[in-house]
Amino acid sequence: MIDPDPDFKPLVGVADEIDQGLRRVLAPNPSPMTFRGTNTYLLGTRGIAVIDPGPDDPAHLAALLATLLPGQHISHIIVTHAHLDHSPLSRRLARITGAPVLAFGDALAGRSAIMQQLAASGLVGGGEGVDAAFAPDVITQDGAEIVGDGWRLEVIHTPGHFGNHISLGWNDTLFCGDLVMGWASSLVSPPDGDLSDFMASCRRLRAMPWRRFHPGHGAAIDAPLARLDWLIDHRLSRETAILAALNEGPACSQALAHRIYTTTPAHLMPAATRNVLAHLVDLTFKSAVAPIGPLAASARFAHLKN
Ligand SMILES: [Zn+2]
Repeated sequence: MIDPDPDFKPLVGVADEIDQGLRRVLAPNPSPMTFRGTNTYLLGTRGIAVIDPGPDDPAHLAALLATLLPGQHISHIIVTHAHLDHSPLSRRLARITGAPVLAFGDALAGRSAIMQQLAASGLVGGGEGVDAAFAPDVITQDGAEIVGDGWRLEVIHTPGHFGNHISLGWNDTLFCGDLVMGWASSLVSPPDGDLSDFMASCRRLRAMPWRRFHPGHGAAIDAPLARLDWLIDHRLSRETAILAALNEGPACSQALAHRIYTTTPAHLMPAATRNVLAHLVDLTFKSAVAPIGPLAASARFAHLKN
């Protein structure tokens, strides 16, 4: 498999100082979906905010605690979203440090009305990798400020990859979780992911003057607005490709994924199929396509021409 970013090879469990007052520690959970592993960020020089503690892994917990220098303590634990590679270690870290866990809400918070309906119908599956037990101590709303010792973060609700996903603005830098990554386009898998929300979140961030993004996986993004443009264009071209393929007759998400994602390795095809399903759900609610029978993960969809 081609390495999407051969230059990004941080050492697992070692704190890299990537900006003034900002360190990054890589968790030991590499995979096709997490790339080298989860990036945990430590912001501050006295009272430290831990952003995305990561998976519930004792080695990663020890690595995070080992970064603390004399006079430093963890004052805040902030979770971008309730996926198993981001949130679970927050519980043990909170118990050990006494710091509160801040997030937008539990694993169902921020889910769009359409995705609530689909989840209730049980027809679309999904839910893989969700930290269903996640329960923050403090709920942070869109527009809230989290103020620590020498740092300040602005909370921006950015659903799309996940309903309870927040991004955190720090001056002209954004901790963008899994909404935007440099090495891959983000997974949008219903009912946790919602493509209409994803596009709206990307467009909202695009209207702000960011200089750099720090993602949940992979290297920092130094041209974040160009990356957002690419992501938006990429999704629009996928939509065009899906509609073109449906012009040849109704098809299900799996068949469409195999027709459209021709260069994707086999082990990533399930994720590609979920991305296509996200488009089909979005197009259904835009009345551009319709499922034949009930709206379900396995349904065949037809292009509605007017
Ligand atoms: Zn992740």
